[in-house]
Amino acid sequence: MMAYGTDAQRERHLPPIAAGDVIWCQGFSEPEAGSDLASLRTRARPDGDGWRISGQKIWTSYAGMADWCILAARVGDGVRHDGITMFMVPMDTAGITVRPIRSMLGPHHLNEVFFDDVPAGADAVLGEIGGGWSVIRTALAHERVGIARYARCERLLSALGAELEPHWHRLPASLQQRWVRALVAVRVARLLAYRTVHVQASGAIPDAVASTARIAVTQCDQTTADVLMSAIEHRGLDAGATAPLHGAVEDHWRYAQAATVSSGTIEVQRMIVAKSVLGGREA
Ligand SMILES: Cc1cc2nc3c(=O)[nH]c(=O)nc-3n(C[C@H](O)[C@H](O)[C@H](O)COP(=O)(O)OP(=O)(O)OC[C@H]3O[C@@H](n4cnc5c(N)ncnc54)[C@H](O)[C@@H]3O)c2cc1C
Repeated sequence: MMAYGTDAQRERHLPPIAAGDVIWCQGFSEPEAGSDLASLRTRARPDGDGWRISGQKIWTSYAGMADWCILAARVGDGVRHDGITMFMVPMDTAGITVRPIRSMLGPHHLNEVFFDDVPAGADAVLGEIGGGWSVIRTALAHERVGIARYARCERLLSALGAELEPHWHRLPASLQQRWVRALVAVRVARLLAYRTVHVQASGAIPDAVASTARIAVTQCDQTTADVLMSAIEHRGLDAGATAPLHGAVEDHWRYAQAATVSSGTIEVQRMIVAKSVLGGREA
């Protein structure tokens, strides 16, 4: 929205977002359009001055608690990237139905969202009509570096020593080495994230730079989760304030498993990096 919104859209939406007063969800993925997002089938047809949107989204994080949705829909008869347009709609608009998907992330995280002839005003369009692919690329490039899980990983790894005292020094050397490697992975992820933010601050949207950071962050997430679970053992499954690290181990482990899928899978991130290194040729 900062990059593509009109002045009126920015004035209306950015202050409550910055204040944390509203929750937005992101309607990109569809049942047949995940990694291959350009094949999305949700459609928007003109209706007077505005639009009517019909289709289905899936894996929409926090849709059940969101006030607004930014979603991608196709305008016109184009295929692939042609016609994809971004719309911003309030989640309480008639015609929107949210169905939770039960998953190991908990009952409120993932959802299906159905759009049944949902009305949207002319001012609901973010960016150009048909210009949605650029908006999606920009949003994903920022999302891929915006989830600072390396910070949480470092905090948990640091807290592990105190948690295990006086047994920390009796841990097998192999596990202590895994702890060190995890910390190195965390620091590498942090530096790659900082590099990406630095490049993005100049206004550039380098997909491969953001993907490199995302690969590093998701891998440090999973490496850290494995080290924590190995060190805490079965007590890592405990929850609540009296559990080791206040129950963060089990929660961290579950979320880390999904990290290499959300925001685009790690395989797709590797393809993006490979294509940039190979100069655009197919990897
Ligand atoms: C926790 C979580 C939160 C999410 N939140 C949201 C959200 O808020 N909004 C939203 O729109 N989506 C969200 N998603 C969906 C996510 O973006 C998709 O799951 C992801 O893009 C993969 O799409 P898919 O599930 O359709 O899998 P597919 O695209 O069907 O992929 C299946 C497998 O094939 C592999 N694959 C596919 N294409 C290639 C290729 N070209 N080369 C190599 N391997 C390939 C993939 O890596 C994967 O392993 C979320 C997902 C998760 C797990």
